[in-house]
Amino acid sequence: MPDNPNAELIAIGTELLLGEITDTNSVYLARQLRDIGVNLFLMTTVGDNLQRISTAIAEALDRADIVITTGGLGPTVDDMTRQAVADAVGAPLVFHQSLYDGIAERFRGFGSAMTANNRQQAWLPEAAILIENPVGTAPSFIVESARGVVISLPGVPREMKYLMRESVVPWLLRKYQLGVILARILRTAGIGESALDDQIGAELLSERNPSVGLAAHHGCVDVRITAKAQNRDAAHRLLDDMQARLQARIGEHIFGSDDDTLEAVVWQQLARRGGLVHVLEAGLPGVISASWKSANNRLSLQQLDSPLDLYATLPEDGRNMSLAELAVEIAQRSRQELNAAASIVVLCQPELDESPDIEQGSAVAVATQKSLRYRAYGFGARSSLAREWISRWGLANLWRQLNAEAGSIRPG
Ligand code: ATP
Ligand code: MG
Repeated sequence: MPDNPNAELIAIGTELLLGEITDTNSVYLARQLRDIGVNLFLMTTVGDNLQRISTAIAEALDRADIVITTGGLGPTVDDMTRQAVADAVGAPLVFHQSLYDGIAERFRGFGSAMTANNRQQAWLPEAAILIENPVGTAPSFIVESARGVVISLPGVPREMKYLMRESVVPWLLRKYQLGVILARILRTAGIGESALDDQIGAELLSERNPSVGLAAHHGCVDVRITAKAQNRDAAHRLLDDMQARLQARIGEHIFGSDDDTLEAVVWQQLARRGGLVHVLEAGLPGVISASWKSANNRLSLQQLDSPLDLYATLPEDGRNMSLAELAVEIAQRSRQELNAAASIVVLCQPELDESPDIEQGSAVAVATQKSLRYRAYGFGARSSLAREWISRWGLANLWRQLNAEAGSIRPG
């Protein structure tokens, strides 16, 4: 049995050749085959002519391992796919009483008389595997012959898609051990999507297997690696290999993989260090506080509606500090006064239309006992996206700082 089977598609119907309908069935089937890694090299369209259909199938079997036909399975005289498949594989048609009974039963259900030509649908090529069709009447089937596999599906797109998805794809996956597609997500922080894209480089981003793609969410960017292989071990090896290549280029931004979250990863870093952690979020919904609330009691969480309240705690000469200076001041205080091992201060101005003299914007400061860094942004709390982004930026910076101090990466 071929490990890497090739397929061909044959769309059957004179309507297609007259240009009256578009062959959307082949488009659907092509995508399905692509997704499970079956190579598709040729698609043919043929009219309702027994000789031409059977020749098309026979020729396709000379080239390919799998031939999938759509159309021509109905009960009328122009539905001759059954006979054409039988001719192409050199097998007789065989009458299936159970199929006939099923069709008759359905007609009784509709309350209409079954005509003689419906009997036609109970004949299938010898040794055909019947594909149950709960969504229509046309019996579909798979014939495994010495020349290859022929799979015949109905023309009606809804039925065809259902049978392909529910029966044929699982059958192909079993029969050819088509392997598996696995994905791994590397999670990055503290770098934007376009800078990350640039650092990864077009060469890696254009590889097909494994493929690499980026997705940005609120201050974190995910790098998704997808690999297809014969089995899980081989797929994991491909993923590992690509991960190592990415690590070499963007390792300093990767904080975890798959289900890791930045909040959890930073919390683990902090827990390893021990000591009090101080978090102050002002003018924000409290993204960090919410995720750490239940962590443990070595945590001092503060949430304020507005950073403006903090100015009141400053001596007179500090009341005209910028937001960034204020963030730094509070981070320093928490390290001195609270003896915090780490501190994150995130300040975001609420809507301030009524006080135009007060600076708009946001600022973040993160401090450990050894170092402090801060950053100011021109945008304020108007955008909920910006608010979440800012907390993430604070976490990303603390993560980076803790890593640098632990000597595992160079400071960013
Ligand atoms: P039925 O039992 O309904 O006759 P069938 O298997 O004989 O099913 P056809 O008669 O060939 O299928 O086609 C039924 C209808 O399905 C067509 O009239 C057309 O609308 C649609 N159809 C057939 N082939 C295609 C195709 N390749 N792409 C899109 N639609 C198709
Ligand atoms: Mg038909």
